[in-house]
Amino acid sequence: MVTERTIEPWSALIDEARADGRLVREAHEGPGAARLVDIPGELHPDVLAGLERAGIQRLYSHQAQALASAWERTTIVTTGTASGKSLCFNLPTLDALCSDRFARALYLYPTKALAQDQARALAEFGLSKQVRPAIYDGDTPRDARGDIRRRANVVLTNPDMLHVGILPHHGSWERLFSHLRIVVIDEAHVYRGVFGSHVAGVLRRLLRVAAAYGSDVRVLLASATIANPVELAERLTGLQDVGLIDDDGSPTPRRQIAMWNPPLTDEAIGARRSALGEAAELLARLVRDGARCICFMKSRKGVELLARMLTEDLQRSDPELAQRVAPYRAGYTPQQRRALEARLMSGELRAVITTDALELGIDIGELDAAVVVTFPGTVASLRQMWGRAGRRGKGLAVYVAGEDALDQFFCRHPDEFLERPVEAAILDHESPQIHQAHLLCAAYEGPLGCEDAEFFGPRWEAHAEALVSAGLLRKRTLPRPSPSVGVGVGVGVGVGVGDTLAGEEATGRGAEVYVLRRPADYPAAGVSLRSASPDSFAIVDVSSGELLGQTEAARAHSTVHDGAIYLHMGRSYEVRELDLEHRRALVAPFNGDWYTQPKRETDTAIERLLDRRETLGVTLSFGEVSVTETVLGYQRKRLSDHAQVDLVMLDLPQTSFSTQALWFELDGATLTGLDGDGDGTIPMDALLGSLHAVEHAQIAVLPLIAMCDRWDIGGLSTNMHPQTGGPTIFIYDGHPGGIGITRQAYQRFEELCRDARRLIAECPCESGCPSCVQSPKCGNLNEPLSKTGALVVLSSLLSSTSHSPGNIF
Ligand SMILES: [Zn+2]
Ligand SMILES: [Zn+2]
Repeated sequence: MVTERTIEPWSALIDEARADGRLVREAHEGPGAARLVDIPGELHPDVLAGLERAGIQRLYSHQAQALASAWERTTIVTTGTASGKSLCFNLPTLDALCSDRFARALYLYPTKALAQDQARALAEFGLSKQVRPAIYDGDTPRDARGDIRRRANVVLTNPDMLHVGILPHHGSWERLFSHLRIVVIDEAHVYRGVFGSHVAGVLRRLLRVAAAYGSDVRVLLASATIANPVELAERLTGLQDVGLIDDDGSPTPRRQIAMWNPPLTDEAIGARRSALGEAAELLARLVRDGARCICFMKSRKGVELLARMLTEDLQRSDPELAQRVAPYRAGYTPQQRRALEARLMSGELRAVITTDALELGIDIGELDAAVVVTFPGTVASLRQMWGRAGRRGKGLAVYVAGEDALDQFFCRHPDEFLERPVEAAILDHESPQIHQAHLLCAAYEGPLGCEDAEFFGPRWEAHAEALVSAGLLRKRTLPRPSPSVGVGVGVGVGVGVGDTLAGEEATGRGAEVYVLRRPADYPAAGVSLRSASPDSFAIVDVSSGELLGQTEAARAHSTVHDGAIYLHMGRSYEVRELDLEHRRALVAPFNGDWYTQPKRETDTAIERLLDRRETLGVTLSFGEVSVTETVLGYQRKRLSDHAQVDLVMLDLPQTSFSTQALWFELDGATLTGLDGDGDGTIPMDALLGSLHAVEHAQIAVLPLIAMCDRWDIGGLSTNMHPQTGGPTIFIYDGHPGGIGITRQAYQRFEELCRDARRLIAECPCESGCPSCVQSPKCGNLNEPLSKTGALVVLSSLLSSTSHSPGNIF
């Protein structure tokens, strides 16, 4: 008798993991039926015909709701990964374009791949006469650009291009800005942190320029599920009264969820089999069993390592399959990307390993399994990655825990993990550095006047004054009347931005405006949206002379210092020389079996106190600090077991930046418990080790409070800070200027302490391990650390309401 294969390609694998305990928790989602409604008859007849051509007979309920809302107000849609979100903003756009032949729409995508995908989707309605989409980004040939500016009525671009290539030249985009009806911001949740704070500046500039051309713009946003969609929409755009569409009417597949923890190899030191090794084996198994997989890793380094391990594994058992897995990430040329996408769609490629869901377009074919290796930082992105599995109505979604503190914290609380609400997306558009950068860019686009409070908020003038002090802006009184203000190359004649900014109600001697001090400046060129610093270092392969890529200048000292191992497209390189003067790193192919971790020295200086409160027996402060960092050397570690090979010293200059931080000062009463023999003195090593471990634990659990990654946060603990005069722990935003992470942590400090104590108290290790107090990014290479001391300090803080140090030990 022939048994028909009714089990899934992953059934055997799951059964085995259940038996040997690696499967910490399993759960099922779905299936859920679709809720369908009729297509609204008010849509333009051409749109109705287009829907028919595209084979769409009815709408999911949320799509119809989104359309109705878009006709009324700013709207954000936050339904699931494959729920047909695009139609939510495509319908009102198509309707606007079919109803008014002059109307224009602007679509913003964070990546090129997504813009390309959306351009294809728009073409599917067969409305080629009414709807003329065009991608305008860095890859658009120069000679095609003029035609796009004239002809295209849907311009698909990214925030960077809008910022540096479109807004400053708004005069040559007159048709777009004069008739701009709809702005679509897809994947809005990506715009958080530094990038989000910048994009908030760019969008304010966009709305300002559009208003100057007399356009009344409707902004439509789509986002993955986050805790604060309306707030995100308001912060990104500065607009109020945002409509929220979050009741998903699309069908959900039946998805099996597996939480996977690699087995312990040494309980005392908390060592587990590496998540990479575990994932490689798991993927090899899935590929062999016929599943099409996507695997997400946090770091590029991880992607390259995992791809190599997986290929080697398959090479041993199934050489043919080894050719059918590939890494995929930013940094590839458009041709390489498209080739990989095509192979994935055809099914020829069985597994692709990538850093981020966004690296891929939407249209990547049906995938059976989505494997997420180590916690991606937020539940929101984890859910989005898992959403890739089950396009045929069934799928497997796996989370492989790493040794990192949060991962193991979740494995001890699997139910809490699976039921965790998604996080809030945090950005701070008023972060002084970023806000001022965009005011400067805006001044190029047209003089800044009192009406700009509408776009830049009530504090814009204080920031403008700061730019005057810095010698970048100057004040000018406009003569009245002022038909056009020709400041900056970008302001066109005719309908100039100056018209609306000149202040027609201004009395007497005319309105005061801010203009660039040096009109020939082009401020947008100096502002990178992706990082707080515009500088980058080139990475050059000395064996071939080839330019491999770029790295941010701010990170160059720690990533491409002399001797660093740098991974690029599946290959390792060793840095032969970091050439600071010419801003480049010279690298050569490398075959060794180690990686490198930098050793850093950090100092913080308090620059400005913004807020302070007494809580848990400590003085807790929030404010601006300057962080000075010196990369002192690096540790070489073996790939296989992370054992240290050696420590090499470097001689690099220090770098520094200003940012936001919280800090708390611990007094004698809080620290009494560290006095082991009760003689009234606390050994220095115990004190430093305890504070350092508290700092690490708090940084580890901070992402539970704010949507960020521990790599976004820095810390410093000291027995004696010169400005506070005593033992102090600092936790700072890792990005120049700060982006609101530590403000959130300041407000929820008590929670931060509670979570940190749980993290440490529940870890089964004896004296500290990577799953509790050790940090993979510690610039001190995790020295000194005291797990027990940290527990004493945190317990003391948390019992401090009736503060009696003797009681709790
Ligand atoms: Zn531990
Ligand atoms: Zn540390």
